[in-house]
Amino acid sequence: MIYVKKNSWPENIQKDFDLQKAKSEWNDIPEEPNKEQARILREEFFDKLNKERLREALIKEQHGLCVYCMSRIENTAESTVIEHWCPLSKSKEKALQYENLFASCYGGQKETVNGVHRIRCCDAKKQDASIKVDPRNERMMENIVYYSDGRIDFSESYATAKIRNMLRGDLWYHLGLNGSVKNDGTMLADTATELVKKRKDAYEAAEDMLMVLDEDNELSPERVEEIIADMQAQDIWDE
Ligand SMILES: [Zn+2]
Repeated sequence: MIYVKKNSWPENIQKDFDLQKAKSEWNDIPEEPNKEQARILREEFFDKLNKERLREALIKEQHGLCVYCMSRIENTAESTVIEHWCPLSKSKEKALQYENLFASCYGGQKETVNGVHRIRCCDAKKQDASIKVDPRNERMMENIVYYSDGRIDFSESYATAKIRNMLRGDLWYHLGLNGSVKNDGTMLADTATELVKKRKDAYEAAEDMLMVLDEDNELSPERVEEIIADMQAQDIWDE
């Protein structure tokens, strides 16, 4: 997962939101909509926004990465879905609130494995669940750890065991970032998008890079910080 530093709302997006909220039907929907009202909220308000422009702003903010799994996303309706962190069905106000919106991949919704089984992640897995793991919380994001076998988890030193377990549940079950897992965290199968494999490959690539630096007598915390800073200075980050 990535930390997303939310920029101030681009003005044209704010105007677009205001235009939708100015419709008289907006007042007919209560803050906590029922199923039918949520459908109207999606189809008559959220879907009427300029999605192209909205996606562009969100993808830029996220350096071209899915907010949850860090896979590459592009500004097309086919590759990226606009995700409500607090589900649209649970809050009218947040349905059209920039801070609540993120760009997510399709989470394997479109892929099939062996023609049948699909293990979803990200938006496709989360659906209407309310989660606590929050990409806007920098400290929380910094306490996510990646293991050499490709698993993602929370650092054992972060927060209390109770909070950690709740957040871990979000990563494992609500977002499916470790594929299909047993209660003890043992992985049964990777996601349709091969997230665990991709993370294992990225871990190994980073390890190789460190070994090369070491062989050249260039391995130091300063050098690693420099490499990270160079990567973060790019508009588009590596998956
Ligand atoms: Zn994703």
